[in-house]
Amino acid sequence: ETVLLTGASGYIAAHILDAFLGAGFHVRAQVRSKGSEERVKHHYTKYVDSGALSFVYVEDISVPGAFDEVVKDVEGVIHTASPFILNAKDYDKDLFDPARNGTLSILQAVKKNNPKVKRIVITSSFASAIDMSKGLRSGYTYTEADWNPMTIEEARNADPTSAYLVSKEIAEHAAYEFEEKEHPNFTVTTLLPPMVYGPVEHDVSSMSHLNTSAADVYRLMNGSEKSVPETGFYAYADVRDLAKAHLLAYTTEAAANQRYLITNASYTYQMLCDIIRKNFPELKDKTPEGDAGAPFPNVYHLDNSKSIEELGMTYRTMEESVVDMVKSLLALEKSL
Ligand code: NDP
Repeated sequence: ETVLLTGASGYIAAHILDAFLGAGFHVRAQVRSKGSEERVKHHYTKYVDSGALSFVYVEDISVPGAFDEVVKDVEGVIHTASPFILNAKDYDKDLFDPARNGTLSILQAVKKNNPKVKRIVITSSFASAIDMSKGLRSGYTYTEADWNPMTIEEARNADPTSAYLVSKEIAEHAAYEFEEKEHPNFTVTTLLPPMVYGPVEHDVSSMSHLNTSAADVYRLMNGSEKSVPETGFYAYADVRDLAKAHLLAYTTEAAANQRYLITNASYTYQMLCDIIRKNFPELKDKTPEGDAGAPFPNVYHLDNSKSIEELGMTYRTMEESVVDMVKSLLALEKSL
């Protein structure tokens, strides 16, 4: 059985590749170019040689019809490609178009060209559920019933972080709307992780070109933050657990047309710095101390019970996620 994985050069996609190839699936990896293929390929020579991993190119997912050809002859689709940038300038071009059009064009392509596909799993985000206008919502628990209420018109006049959040909401929303209107042969499952942490495995050209969530941790261990910054989002997901969630979402019948919050734990940057300082004494001078041991504040929580009950998810501890991530970043730093 072959699945198409979009955005295969990305941070999360590397772990999804591991999960699907490890489970015996064949993967058709979509990247933008031959150069990108080469950078992904050398991590997976065993699977390339066996024929389990192959590549297709789509240079820009925003272009209508972008996926028309590459969806042919696969049994399923895992759609991760979408910009995760928090400093976009042209929101439509840099965020909204690739997020929404990319999602819609893959659904349209499958409907038009491949009736064999039964399941499309989409990497959405907690961005698509959070209501920023309500602030830190002490005592509130987010569930799969929550949708980010900000409109695209409001986002056009808002900060780049809000624009990113809305890009994920409009993409996920468009997928369910498409299903409702078009009644395709396939079902959709969407996964909503908050900040994703854990080992960096994909090809990175330099430490200044890390993906956004890895850069978020790297700044806390490379001396660039003199004090512990204010936490952006108060929950995280381990990238390996999230990859497993994609596999379970793909293989679990009951996950049809369901969204799942995928999260290991609530956290703050303070807790993250505490774990780094405890496990990596050599980083003590580069990782801010802040108010060590400060308890988790009175802010919103995320409910991951649906993912545990319906998908059978299990989650690593935060200590494991952070330690493995920091180790991978130190190794990367050394190798570049
Ligand atoms: P990366 O930046 O590492 O990966 C993004 C991928 O999408 C890359 O393969 C990139 O290709 C591709 N892509 C982006 N825009 C385009 C475009 N216009 N045309 C073609 N390809 C494009 O990010 P992550 O791995 O972190 O993100 C993957 C998914 O997970 C995204 O959907 C993101 O929204 C979601 N997510 C991530 C979280 C996190 O904390 N990391 C949290 C919640 C959700 P290229 O490398 O060639 O540019």
